[in-house]
Amino acid sequence: MRLSVDPRDGGVRLILPGRASIRDALRWVEGQRPWVEKALAALPLPQPIRAGETLHVAGEPLLIEIAARGRGVRREDGRLLVAGPEELVANRILRWLKAQAAERLEADTRRYAALAGVSIGRVSIGDPRARWGSCSSTGDIRYSWRLILAPPAVLESTVVHEVAHRLHMDHSPDFHAAVRKLLGRDPIAERAWLRAHGSALYWLGRDS
Ligand SMILES: [Zn+2]
Repeated sequence: MRLSVDPRDGGVRLILPGRASIRDALRWVEGQRPWVEKALAALPLPQPIRAGETLHVAGEPLLIEIAARGRGVRREDGRLLVAGPEELVANRILRWLKAQAAERLEADTRRYAALAGVSIGRVSIGDPRARWGSCSSTGDIRYSWRLILAPPAVLESTVVHEVAHRLHMDHSPDFHAAVRKLLGRDPIAERAWLRAHGSALYWLGRDS
C-alpha cells in the first residue's frame, strides 16, 4: 500500500494492491493520519489572483491593481493594471500570463534553436502536470505556461533542455553535454529550484 499527498493540488491518494482488503487499508490509513496532516500542512500556500496581491512574472514582482481606465491588462512601474470589474480580474490576468509565457517561450526557443543549428516545429503552451516541457520527434515543443512564474533562468534552462532534444532524443551524457554547451553551464540550480518550488506554481489562481 502506498499513501501520497500530491504537492500540486493537495490530493491524498492511496494505492492498493489488487488483493488488499478495503477495511484493512482504511484502518492502516487511519494510523497514517499524523503523517498525512503533516504533509498537508507543508503544502504550498494558495495564491489567489486579485487586487493587492503580488505576482512574480519572469522574476519581476508586479502588484495587481484595478485600473480606473483602459481595457485588458498592462504592466507599468512594477504594477499590473487590470480593467475591472473585480470578478473578471483573475481571468484577465491568467489570459495575460499565458500570452506572456507563449511569447517568451516561443522567442527563446527560436533563439536557442538557431544557436544549436536545429529546426523546430510548432511551439505551444499548455498546463501539463507531469512535465515542464516536452519535445516530439517531429520537433514540436510544448511547455507549461507556468514557467513564466519561475525565475527567468529556470524558464531558459527548460527551453535549452527541449531544444537539446532536437540533437539527442534521450538523456544520455551527449544530451547533457549539449545542454551545457548551449546554456553555458550545468542547470543544477534551476533543477533544484523546480524540485523545491515547482509545485507552488500550481497554486497560483487558487483561493483555498
Ligand atoms: Zn528531457
